[in-house]
Amino acid sequence: MPGEGLDAFVTKFQKAAACDPFGTLLIVPTSHLARWVVRRLGEGSVAIVGDTITTLQGFARKVFDDYAVSETLISGTESRLILTRLLAAGRYPLLDGPGTVEELATLFSVLIMRKVNYPAALGDLASEKSAEIAHLLDTYLRFLDGHGLVDESTLVARAVRLLADAGGGFRTVYVYGLFEPMPLERDLLLALRDGAEEFHYSMPYAPNPAVFSDDGEWLHPDTVISGGAADDRPSRLAGLFAHREPVDCGEFIRIAERRDRLDEVRAIAQEIHDLFVAGVRPDEIAVAFPDPDTAAPYVEEVFPDFGIPYVASVGRPLSASPLVQTLLSALTVPARGYRREDVVALTTSPYLLNVGGCEIDILSRDARITAGAAAWDERFTALARTLEEERARPDTPEAARARLIAKIAAVEATRDRVREVIADLSALEGTRTIREHLAAYRLLLDTWQAPAIPTEGDPELLEDEARDLRGFTETLAALDRLAPLLPDERMPLAEFSSLLALLLTGTRTGRRRQANAVRVVGIRKIAHLAVPYLFIGGLIEGAMPRLTTRLPFTTDAETRRLPTRSKEEILREERYHFVAALLAGRRRLYLSYPTADGAAPLVRSGFVDAVQGTFSPAVWGSEDFSASKVASARRAGALLACGEVPAGMPPGLTVREAIHRLNIENYHRKGGYNSPYDSMLDGDPAIAAALAEQFGEGAVFSPTALETYADCPFRFYLERVLGLAPLPEPDPDLTAQERGALVHRIAYRFYAAWKGDGNGPVTEACYPDALRRILDGGREEADRFGFESPAWVADKEHLLGSPAAGRGLLERFLRHEAENAASRFVPQAFEVSFGLPVVPGEVDPVSIPDAVAIPLGDGILRLRGRVDRVDVMPDGRFMITDYKTGTSHHKLKDIVAGRALQLPLYLRAVETLTGMEGVGGTYYTLRRGEVRNQPVFWDSGLKDCFACFPGSQRNSVEDVQDLVRITLSRVQDYLAGIRSGCFPPRSDAGPCPAYCGYKTICRFDALRLLAAAEGVMPDGTD
Ligand code: SF4
Repeated sequence: MPGEGLDAFVTKFQKAAACDPFGTLLIVPTSHLARWVVRRLGEGSVAIVGDTITTLQGFARKVFDDYAVSETLISGTESRLILTRLLAAGRYPLLDGPGTVEELATLFSVLIMRKVNYPAALGDLASEKSAEIAHLLDTYLRFLDGHGLVDESTLVARAVRLLADAGGGFRTVYVYGLFEPMPLERDLLLALRDGAEEFHYSMPYAPNPAVFSDDGEWLHPDTVISGGAADDRPSRLAGLFAHREPVDCGEFIRIAERRDRLDEVRAIAQEIHDLFVAGVRPDEIAVAFPDPDTAAPYVEEVFPDFGIPYVASVGRPLSASPLVQTLLSALTVPARGYRREDVVALTTSPYLLNVGGCEIDILSRDARITAGAAAWDERFTALARTLEEERARPDTPEAARARLIAKIAAVEATRDRVREVIADLSALEGTRTIREHLAAYRLLLDTWQAPAIPTEGDPELLEDEARDLRGFTETLAALDRLAPLLPDERMPLAEFSSLLALLLTGTRTGRRRQANAVRVVGIRKIAHLAVPYLFIGGLIEGAMPRLTTRLPFTTDAETRRLPTRSKEEILREERYHFVAALLAGRRRLYLSYPTADGAAPLVRSGFVDAVQGTFSPAVWGSEDFSASKVASARRAGALLACGEVPAGMPPGLTVREAIHRLNIENYHRKGGYNSPYDSMLDGDPAIAAALAEQFGEGAVFSPTALETYADCPFRFYLERVLGLAPLPEPDPDLTAQERGALVHRIAYRFYAAWKGDGNGPVTEACYPDALRRILDGGREEADRFGFESPAWVADKEHLLGSPAAGRGLLERFLRHEAENAASRFVPQAFEVSFGLPVVPGEVDPVSIPDAVAIPLGDGILRLRGRVDRVDVMPDGRFMITDYKTGTSHHKLKDIVAGRALQLPLYLRAVETLTGMEGVGGTYYTLRRGEVRNQPVFWDSGLKDCFACFPGSQRNSVEDVQDLVRITLSRVQDYLAGIRSGCFPPRSDAGPCPAYCGYKTICRFDALRLLAAAEGVMPDGTD
């Protein structure tokens, strides 16, 4: 049985090796077990030659190293690189696609190790595709032969020949625990046996055909010694799957069903902690997973939290190391065309000195850089130019000028720095041989003195970085070794970069060494070992058993025809690995499985059912993770909340401070907004003074700022008080704001000139002339943008019209104007600005630089803004219009509720400026799918004037002035809130607006609002 007699076998080997250390060999199934034997023998006094205890593959490598004269052994990754090149160089149309090389490598390995005569073995199933596969395999093998190379699959065959030529090398051979060797492995074993004087072969076997079928007859043994037919626990475990009577294993086997993977690993960690408390040493415990890569992140998170020292048997791919990613990105940045995100990632890496900084990220967004070496320079230069133009404008305030000067300097410095980086990186570009690429790459890393690794810091992190750097250097050396194989083969940088990335992905980082630690291993590596306390987790279908029957590039029918493993054989092998793992547990065996992975349910392994049906195992696992630091903190909080002091507080944290922090979350951030933790800053005189200075009686407000406060005081606080702004999106096309500004400018230019020439409303009679003039102006304004993207071309067509797009937005605008000419309103003033610098030619002549003072109770609202348009009736009454290019606009009910302030405030501002009476406000929607001027409110006494506007039936009001008074009363409340420091998040439980850029730093909680509205107390009572 697996693991049975291993000690005695090793002792026999030890005795033989003591007499003949170089002529005695021990072969075991896994390198894990080989290391264990070496360690065990190392504890004794007998000297052992290290490489005489090995795996079959390790032995083949040893034979190769000892006897091969001129050949070179290449790694799996190197062989994949060669396959990649051969695939690219040949004509294999049926073998194209992602993942092809990996699948072909797997297929070739199976065909070689199982000595399959391909494609002849397919018989009448042979096809064009199998012919391509056979041709590629033949080309690959000839390439290896021609270059004196041996890969991991051909190594065994080569070792068989070398061993035969050498006449054998070992006098006494011990082989332990191999499970059903493949045909080529059998050849190697037979060659070993033929050359040895003594050949001892101990194989796992039990009278259970559901698991064991290899009886070793193929070795033609002289003597067969069977294990005892004992009725002990191991033999009962080995009888699993044989449909025997259920047996009682007492408390030896335990099973736990856990909620998900995290809960499962936590339960394992808690149980391990309890074992520690009971006196069990860490090195007496092992945790095995069928899929260790999936389990690794959970173990990495949970075990340190429970204070469990552990050592994982496999490292992570080198390509996952942040240090290696930085070094690799020096290649990927030019290979991918200097994409913004790639350049930012490279230049902000802590592993590079003096390469860049976070300003590159922010400024490149402003400059709207997305990719391209030349674009970096051009766009930064254009940004500096735009900023300079803004600085030079007469209406730019002095404070803004100083900011602009600093920003221009930052843009130019960043441009120069990026220019240098791109010049360095461009030296890597071009089509070259591997050797030339390597030389250029190494030169760049030398020039940059990369990577820069700190000499002080977390010792474990420093150790990881040093190990990753070693791995990276060795990987470059592996590429160096590959280079002579393809001396004249030239490849573009992108391909070289992919080659290196492939190598780095296929290379695992080394393991941390740690004595007396819990071992975390793959289930196949635990076989034959003796582990006092063994956990086997992650027992779900798909992971255990893993029934991957179909070979890559073969149909089910082809797989059945080829002499490879059938589905039944794979199931038997999986059962063997499971039984072998069970047999490794000596004092207690803990099995477990998660029932879900996130929202996806998981199906427990059928092997768990077999164990439950056969051994009636106990259950294990706790819901209380007392050993978890996170759980302890939670418990301590619960104790503190009840007025009790927990046993241990983290250093530097007092009970008072801890209670205070807990109260922030559990008391203050529950129910309505009423504490500083929800930005209710009304109790602090210093804050009140600062706010009075910024937002007191003399402060000028825009309707937008007040609407922001109305919608979300916290957003106002972030935006207007703290001056924070979300990072701009690097949008290469026209933004929504730019589209709006463009439409506003065209409408202003058209009407200012139209009216200046003495024209009245646009009517059918003057329509052709008006259309020509607005299109001319539109073309000129659009041409100011230097975009070239297809999106911009389409945008222009929709603005100006084209045979393909039909009538443009401007033409539809004019058509709508002509239809509304009957309203008696005449467009009179455009871009009426107040409280803003007046730039002649950009605003209406009635504009003033001072803010408009609007009486507000016993105070004053100083308002600034710009009214898009004022239309006047012959009697002097007017309506104001706001152009909208977006999708959603406020309605009358929003004005009544105080959410929409702009139209009433602008109406009152124009009244104050002109002394005329406002009778309505409209939103003029100007966008691709919709052009219409719709009144939001209008004086119900002017039905004949507003009837021609679309959708006007519902929005009349008895008294427009009353509506303005409602708005002013709301504004009074908002100003009081701002000045007193009330900045809570939104009080509307509905979703926050999509455009809010502060979601990542906001604690808005709709459920809290709903609970507060229903009167539910923080503790859930009502
Ligand atoms: S996410 Fe909501 S609550 Fe938070 S700032 Fe934005 S709008 Fe206000």
